[in-house]
Amino acid sequence: MITLQGVNKWYGDFHVLRDIDLTVTKGERIVICGPSGSGKSTLIRCINRLEEHQKGDILVRNTPLTNDVKHIEIIRREVGMVFQHFNLFPHLTVLENCTLAQIWVRKTPKKEAEAMAMKLLTRVKIQDQAKKYPGQLSGGQQQRVAIARSLCMNPEIMLFDEPTSALDPEMIKEVLDVMVELAEEGMTMLCVTHEMGFARTVADRVIFMDEGQIIEENDPETFFHHPESERTKLFLSQIL
Ligand code: ADP
Ligand code: MG
Repeated sequence: MITLQGVNKWYGDFHVLRDIDLTVTKGERIVICGPSGSGKSTLIRCINRLEEHQKGDILVRNTPLTNDVKHIEIIRREVGMVFQHFNLFPHLTVLENCTLAQIWVRKTPKKEAEAMAMKLLTRVKIQDQAKKYPGQLSGGQQQRVAIARSLCMNPEIMLFDEPTSALDPEMIKEVLDVMVELAEEGMTMLCVTHEMGFARTVADRVIFMDEGQIIEENDPETFFHHPESERTKLFLSQIL
C-alpha cells in the first residue's frame, strides 16, 4: 500500500528525515512513536504530500508521489488523515464537515453525501450531534467527527497524527475505541501515537523514530519487552 525508499527531507538546512525505508502492506497496522521533534509528523505528512520530500521515493498503491498534480490527487483520494487538533471547519455543522469534500471533490449529490455522513457518524456514535457546530462538542466528540469525515471519502489508508494527545484523559478511550474498531475491520493504518496500550493490542509493528531516522522496528511484544537500541530503551522508560 505504501513504500518509502531512501526518503530524505530538509526544512531549509535542517535535515528532518534521513534515509527512511518503510513498507506498509494492505491491512497492516503500524504505530510510530519517538520523542518530540523526531520527525514523526513530517514523515506521515509526506505520505499525502502535505509536506514535500526532496530525495528518495514514496509510492502509494504504486502511484509515485511526484510534483504531478494528477498523482497527488490520486493519492489524496486513497489516504485519509486525522490530526492532533481535529482541524474541523468551525463555521460548518458536523454534518456539513462530513459532506463538504464529498460534494465538492467527489461531486456526490448532496442527499447521497448526507446519507454517507450519517452512516459514518452513527459508526462513531455521534449521529445525534450532526446539526451542531464543532465548538459545541467536546474534544473527544470532535475527534470522532474528524475520523468520520475522513472515512466519508472511503480511504484505503488512514494516517493518524497523535489523535488523542490533545484530549482530556476521559475522552481518550472513546477515540481509541473507534480506532481499534477500524483496525479490526482491516483498515490499513499508520498511527503516530504514544498510546502504548493501543500499540500493544492492535499494532502489527511498532516503529521508533529519533532524529529523523527509524531507529528500530519490531512486533509490539519484542518492541516493548526486548528493545534493542539504547535510545528505544530510554524512550520507553520515560513513557511507560
Ligand atoms: P514530531 O512530530 O516527531 O514531534 P515533527 O515532524 O513535527 O516532529 O518535527 C521534526 C522537526 O522539524 C522539529 O525539529 C521541528 O521543529 C521541525 N519542523 C517541523 N515543521 C517544520 C517547518 N514547517 N519548518 C521548519 N522546521 C520544521
Ligand atoms: Mg508531531
